[in-house]
Order: sequence, then structure tokens, then C-alpha cells
Amino acid sequence: MVNSKIQAAEENLIHVYNRFPIALDHGEGMYLYDTEGKEYLDFAAGFAVSGLGYDNKELNQALKDQIDKLYHTSNLYFHESCGEAAKELNRISGMDRVFFTNSGGEANEGALKAARRYAYTKKTGRYEFIAMQNSFHGRSFGAVSVTGHDSYREPFEPVVPGVRFAEFNDLDSVKALVNDKTCAIILEPLQGEGGINLATQEFMEGIRKICDENGILMICDEVQCGMGRTGNMFAWQGFGVKPDILTMAKAIGNGIPVGAFAMTEEVAKYSLQPGDHGATYGGNPLACTAVKTVIEIFEREDIVGHVNQVAPYLTKKLDELVDELDCVVRRKGKGLMQGIEITKPLAEVNKKTIEEGLLIIQAQGNVIRSVPPLIVEEKHIDEMIEKLKRALA
Ligand SMILES: *Cc1c(COP(=O)(O)O)cnc(C)c1O
Repeated sequence: MVNSKIQAAEENLIHVYNRFPIALDHGEGMYLYDTEGKEYLDFAAGFAVSGLGYDNKELNQALKDQIDKLYHTSNLYFHESCGEAAKELNRISGMDRVFFTNSGGEANEGALKAARRYAYTKKTGRYEFIAMQNSFHGRSFGAVSVTGHDSYREPFEPVVPGVRFAEFNDLDSVKALVNDKTCAIILEPLQGEGGINLATQEFMEGIRKICDENGILMICDEVQCGMGRTGNMFAWQGFGVKPDILTMAKAIGNGIPVGAFAMTEEVAKYSLQPGDHGATYGGNPLACTAVKTVIEIFEREDIVGHVNQVAPYLTKKLDELVDELDCVVRRKGKGLMQGIEITKPLAEVNKKTIEEGLLIIQAQGNVIRSVPPLIVEEKHIDEMIEKLKRALA
């Protein structure tokens, strides 16, 4: 239980989060510990952020060294870490030009602006966006405007105009919305918040084709599914369907607040120009050191290879749950971004997993999301399944 001092501090915050009654203190590898020393196996990774888990000594040291040298300068000046992080992120994401933001929502915000700016230069008169039902793109105005859940948008209307929603994985529903005003189509190749829904190969290829045939930009939001989670460095690579604009955040900084939107050279040529966009903190030396070091560790330790090695075991274990337990309806997702749809009330189950010492997250459609740090091993999966079974009993 959270002590009264920590609980009292909550009264100073705007109440937008329903917190569990535990206060986390420190972490190591796959585990987090609360202020009372209780251990939690982490299958949430702080919302798919902590890909390398906790207390990675190499990352910690790189960040500490950078803090001691310099951690903010503004974007008026060059900083070596920024160029290096950009080069490396472009290399692994297959993009050509990148802009660093402080979050995923801000990355999508920038991507939408970049798409409109492209249309403006080309004088196409295109400004509409097609987004997907059940999508999640963040909480800023642009991002909620393309988020396919009424509850995220309605209290804030009117939101950004010119957005139409298609059914995810239904190409005809997308085609029905395309017109000569369509500027970009935005989608998550694997929807997270919306219930762990994987795009079909046909859908990804179909969207690419619609975009190519109509002069529309394809934006992939890989804020959650990117950075190794699906068994490819970025999910689009698994489909072989390259977007024009790619957004990233969450795991690219392993928890240091950093996001990015990136684009191909072809888009960059006509898109944002000097003065069009900016961020005071965006891509500061600390954030860029995080990105650069995270990529170094990912490649040296072949994290993507590890994901491909361990993910089939997670799949097998979750499939067994579906067979064994009546309250588990189906398994969804790919790699280390999977979920199970259950019939029991999620909130109750989640309360029990906390008691069991297991952190999971919920997703739409009564889905328990399993997005552990990517360093997870089979023994952790066994431990998770045991705890989850007891919570579902
Ligand atoms: C989390 C998330 C966002 C928003 O990221 P923030 O850093 O919270 O702004 C955007 N898109 C997707 C797919 C996400 O999962």
C-alpha cells in the first residue's frame, strides 16, 4: 500500500490517472520494486517503453556522463549527439530525415503538419486525413483528432477538422473515403491501445497502393510497435511496406522523454522548411545520447534476434491459456506485443495481478496487454503465466 505521505501528494495533481495503490521505487532487469520492497515482474515496461528493462548499467553511465557534460543547449547550435542519434535512427528505421520531439503525441503532431506542409508546397489543395477506428495517436489536439475513439475526442470538440475514420483492416472502407482532398493516411501497423490489432499484409500493401496511385502520403505510427517489439526493428519492415513518414517514441529512449518523426528524402524536399517547426527541448544532448546508446545496445546485444527467439514461447504459452481457461477468448498480436481478450472484468483481474506481483496493462476490447521489456526470457514468461492464471482464477 502507498504510504500516506505519497497519497497526500496526489491531491496536488490534476486527477487524470487512475493509479494502482503502489509506489514504485527502483528496478532491475525485468523487475520493479515498490517502496515496501515488494517485487513485481514487469510485463508493462512503462507502456512499452523500457525495452532494455531497468538499471542497464551501460545506458545509465552514458546518461550520467552526458548530464555531467551538458544536457541542454537549444536547437540554435549543433551538438554531436544529435547528428549521431539522427544518423543511427535513420539507418535502423529506413528513413532519410528525422526531427526529434519529446513524446509520441508530439511526433504525430509533427507528422501531420509535415504532411500538410508537403501538400502546401506542391499546391495540391489536399488537407484531409484518413485515420483508423480504434487507433491511438496521443493526446495533443492534432493527435486526438486522428484518434479513433470518441471518448478521447468528444470532450474537446471541435478538434482539427478534415479527419475521416476508416475501419482498420478494411481496404474498401479506406477507398470509400479517398478523394482529391486526401493528404495522408495515418495508421499503426499494430494497434496498441486499441486492443492489439495487427494489420494484415493485404491492408498494408493496399494502403501503400492507394497512396501511390493518388499522391497521398502514408504515415505509420510506430510509437508503440517500433524499436524491436514486433520482431523487426520497425514493424513496417516486417510487411515490406515502407511509409513516407514514420513516427517513433516510447522505446527509442528507454524512458528518457524522446520521440521522433522521420520522412523520406522525397517528402523532406517539399515538406517542412526552416522556421516551420521546432521544439525547445526536442533532441537535446541527453535525449540524443539516450537514443544513440539504446541503438548501440540493441544492435550489439541483438535485441531483435532475441525477440524472435523468445516471442514464439510467449505465443505458445498464451495459446495454452486460451485452450485452458474459459475466460480467455483469444490471443492477439505479434512478437513481444501481444494480448489476450478475456471475459472477466479487466479492472478486477488487474487488481489481482498487482497482488500477485505482476504488472500488465489493459487495452480496449477487454484485452490484457503483454508488452514486457524486450530482454524477457522464457523463465519470466513462465512466471508471468503462473501469476496471470492465479489472477484469472
Ligand atoms: C503511446 C502512444 C502515443 C502517444 O505517445 P506519448 O508519448 O504518450 O505522447 C502515440 N501513438 C501510439 C501508437 C502510442 O502507443
